[in-house]
Amino acid sequence: MIIAGNWKMNCDSRQAIKLVNEIIKSNDIPIEANIMIFPPSILIPVIFPLIKNTKIKLGAQDCSLNDNGAYTGQISSDMILDAGCEYVILGHSERRSMCKETSSDVSLKSFKAISKGLNVIICIGESLKEREDNSFLSILETQLSSSLPQSIGSQIEVSDFQITIAYEPIWAIGSGKVATNENIEEVHKFIKNCLNDYFENSIKIPVIYGGSVNANNSSQILKLNSVDGVLVGGASLKSDDFIKIAKNSL
Ligand code: PEP
Repeated sequence: MIIAGNWKMNCDSRQAIKLVNEIIKSNDIPIEANIMIFPPSILIPVIFPLIKNTKIKLGAQDCSLNDNGAYTGQISSDMILDAGCEYVILGHSERRSMCKETSSDVSLKSFKAISKGLNVIICIGESLKEREDNSFLSILETQLSSSLPQSIGSQIEVSDFQITIAYEPIWAIGSGKVATNENIEEVHKFIKNCLNDYFENSIKIPVIYGGSVNANNSSQILKLNSVDGVLVGGASLKSDDFIKIAKNSL
């Protein structure tokens, strides 16, 4: 089970060190849990020395679709790898809405990140309006197919677990309004079917849920057949909650 913590733009270095040390020292995290943390990129060099001899994986919250050059404020896949990360989150709804990132940007970024050797967590999710007008499955299918790694004229080899899909309904993110078990199962099964069609069943792509996951609701979500883990925002900033979520993956 993947238990991924997206810290977003939170924590200074003192808080980050405390949070990571509390997670590392916990005896409650099951050995099988695949713990990943995604701090703000400026904190990655602070955290890497703490986690480097542990099972915890480190990732960035975004990457550039370019290698290097005049791209003020961006960080490249090579820089992310060089800092000790194995993962990058791409296409989070906050980047899609605030930075006007399109699925085609996400696709190019995922192509670049994978070709450099990073594993990607590609986020997709529908708005409340799309859920209410019942267009969500077709919206998700389009988002998924157009966010997967593609680059005109180039092919990419993808191996097992190099891509993870995070289903994060926008209306559930940071709202305290978690999707129902039925909502999650329906969409995860749909995503898995689409992935089986695109990749002819041949590679393993976990599908994880994100959106107001916390210490109380994680147990039932993690028990669902189609759920391979969770992407946690707010609750990943409290070590007790994050550890409890990991414990609930057993
Ligand atoms: C997220 O931003 O990826 C997320 C799931 O946030 P939260 O858990 O706070 O809803």
